[in-house]
Amino acid sequence: MTRSVFVINAGSSSLKYQLVDVDSGAALAGGLIERIGETTGEAKHQAPGIEKVVERRVIPDHEHAFGWVLRQFDQHGPSLDSAQLLGVGHRVVQGGARFDRAVRIDEDVQQQIEDLAPLAPLHNPANLQGIRSARATFPGYPHVAVFDTAFHLTIPPAAHRYAIEAQVAAEHRIRKYGFHGTSHQFVSRRMAELLGRPLDEVNTIVLHLGNGASATAVRGGRSVETSMGMTPLAGLVMGTRSGDIDPGVIFHLHRVAGLSIDEIDTLLNKRSGLLGMTGTGDMRDVLQAADAGIERAVEALEVVGHRLRGTVGAYLAHLGRTDAIAFTAGIGENAARVREIALEGLEGLGIVLDPERNAGRGERRISADGSAIEVWVVPTNEELEIARQVADLVG
Ligand code: AMP
Repeated sequence: MTRSVFVINAGSSSLKYQLVDVDSGAALAGGLIERIGETTGEAKHQAPGIEKVVERRVIPDHEHAFGWVLRQFDQHGPSLDSAQLLGVGHRVVQGGARFDRAVRIDEDVQQQIEDLAPLAPLHNPANLQGIRSARATFPGYPHVAVFDTAFHLTIPPAAHRYAIEAQVAAEHRIRKYGFHGTSHQFVSRRMAELLGRPLDEVNTIVLHLGNGASATAVRGGRSVETSMGMTPLAGLVMGTRSGDIDPGVIFHLHRVAGLSIDEIDTLLNKRSGLLGMTGTGDMRDVLQAADAGIERAVEALEVVGHRLRGTVGAYLAHLGRTDAIAFTAGIGENAARVREIALEGLEGLGIVLDPERNAGRGERRISADGSAIEVWVVPTNEELEIARQVADLVG
């Protein structure tokens, strides 16, 4: 018999959903509603065996969006009644120092998510909007919050503290939180399965390289270091975010270049990274441009590779003994060239890629037989990880 979880990722003007069979891991249905609250929204619903539904219409708010979703399940299927819904899982970006695991949502949890909004002003209020509307739409079911930060709360103080005045840090909750936790957790657990060893014995470096990108050092199933910080701006070069930068640059941009704080925020979050360096934030276009010999694309890839190799090197040192490196997300799963530059020249550290395996597809080992550290591509599945955590909590 099917047991399913309804997984929700709510943005300020978007709603992504998936109905997940927790036992088989299959997506029973899914969809995306965009431009909620704008003059025309777009809503899509799809499920195996039905024709994809696409509608352009006004969707004033998240509650109307959920109303549309329920109608699609009624009219086109699959039937929510026969899916044995266990509960509803909500992706919440910032869980602060409080939430180290998924929790059942009540008024108190909602209040705490709201209290954390200053740390994630773009995300937590939108996630909360999704939670409120979903609780109104699915009143009879348990709702669970799954935090992007939770997996990283095991990072020790030496790694999560910033060397700034202690009182200021404490007062404003300034520390490393890390993000993409659901993905890092899923991939590191899967990595132990693939190696055929108990999770608590396996040390893995997970490279989640998508439009947003982060690296995590996982020791025995626990995150011990990650590249994103108090916000998702830190660390690796991303589609539109700069990743690590000397904080002094911000003062310079303000005092010398005359940019306001909001302008600098937009510059570093939305107009930097691949986009800032090459004019496109899409790795496929950057790779194509580099192949065509366009210099700024070639140089951008050098920056991406340099940052990745430095991060891998640091995490080898933090872990002491590393069993595997796992690549995941859009770029990590699909871009052989990026995987190659991320590990180029690390043969002396026991990391040797097999070019043929690297050029293949799907979940697989891509290191050479003699490589001391195994390298894998492990497709991530954040919806399934959320669904499993919901099922563990309420099932
Ligand atoms: P994500 O945020 O995980 O969806 O990843 C998005 C990123 O993956 C974008 O930069 C895409 O250009 C990149 N990507 C997706 N497919 C490929 C591919 N076949 N080759 C290179 N990059 C890809």
